[in-house]
Amino acid sequence: MSRPLIAEIDLDALRHNYRLAQALAPHSQSLAVLKANAYGHGALACARALDDLAPAFAVACIEEAQALRQDGIDKPIVLLEGFFQAEELPLIESLGLWTAVHSEWQVEALLAYRPRRPIPVWVKMDSGMHRLGFSEQNIEGIWQRLLDAPDRVCDLHLMSHFATADALEPRYFHRQLQLLNDWATALNAPTCLANSPATLAWPESHGAWNRPGIMLYGSDPLEGANDASRSLRPVMTLRSEIIAVQELGPGEPVGYGGRWITPAPSRIGVVAAGYGDGYDRHARDGTPVLIDGQRSMLAGKVSMDMLTVDITALPDAGIGSRVTLWGQDASGAMLSVDEVARHCDTISYTLLTGLLPRVPRHYFKDWNEAV
Ligand SMILES: *Cc1c(COP(=O)(O)O)cnc(C)c1O
Repeated sequence: MSRPLIAEIDLDALRHNYRLAQALAPHSQSLAVLKANAYGHGALACARALDDLAPAFAVACIEEAQALRQDGIDKPIVLLEGFFQAEELPLIESLGLWTAVHSEWQVEALLAYRPRRPIPVWVKMDSGMHRLGFSEQNIEGIWQRLLDAPDRVCDLHLMSHFATADALEPRYFHRQLQLLNDWATALNAPTCLANSPATLAWPESHGAWNRPGIMLYGSDPLEGANDASRSLRPVMTLRSEIIAVQELGPGEPVGYGGRWITPAPSRIGVVAAGYGDGYDRHARDGTPVLIDGQRSMLAGKVSMDMLTVDITALPDAGIGSRVTLWGQDASGAMLSVDEVARHCDTISYTLLTGLLPRVPRHYFKDWNEAV
């Protein structure tokens, strides 16, 4: 027997979600964003599972790209933030990476570097996110300087990021898109603009390339779900078991600080999962969990290795009962990571990327190709 907490990763669901991103944007190529260990799902396993579908991958830094290369992934890989030091350029060249550039110093470094073959470059424009990228004042000059160096750089694309593509209120999104369309026309540039919410909800933003991330993992980033986002399948199921049961009278506090107090005679299930595994300690009383496929809720603060759930209404639940913290239970019942995130005052991205290495990942697939 070992600790029952595991993260099951459904690679077939990953492929389903990637195909959905493709189908929504039939005239675009879709990068599969694998940064942050594929949002906690395991970058290498996800890259292998998508290798025959995705024309290219994207990561946040050269270390993430290098790890994929070392394990035999030879598709193009885009560095979404480019390089952090000019000294990375030889490695970018030898690993065959594509790089974003967002700052003047990166352009200077690229133009000072003499590669054997030109390096594909995506020029990042700040169209309103105000995080990375060249301003409207600078973009044309930067673009021209890069265009004038075909021995150093090639395949220039205009890249930008949306701040509000997930929101129901469309005005700021449209302002960003209008500006980008104007510049794409002026520069005669192929674009890469759409993240997951834009891929799902804003076909007018789809470019030569899109950059879906979170949707590949089955979380719905939209403030208002649509038919496409409803057809995403969860890739990760975080599952555990009840390891102990407490039968308590009314008025008994449960867990650290006694935050939750039994309102009546209660049965409390103790689950092997805690913040030391990455389950969010901000989870409030009432955060949903599935016990043998039935809804129950968190009762009391999350501990490092354990959490407590109220199973008073589930007389069949006891030691050994299946617990689904998010994902899909064996019965077919679903608990979305998005719903859990709302009870933790956060977003699915932090729960998924925050799952710690001590939780074993178990991969499965039901298609007939080698992973
Ligand atoms: C992470 C990231 C994405 C993917 O965003 P999702 O919301 O996960 O789809 C796209 N573009 C850039 C630049 C990113 O950093």
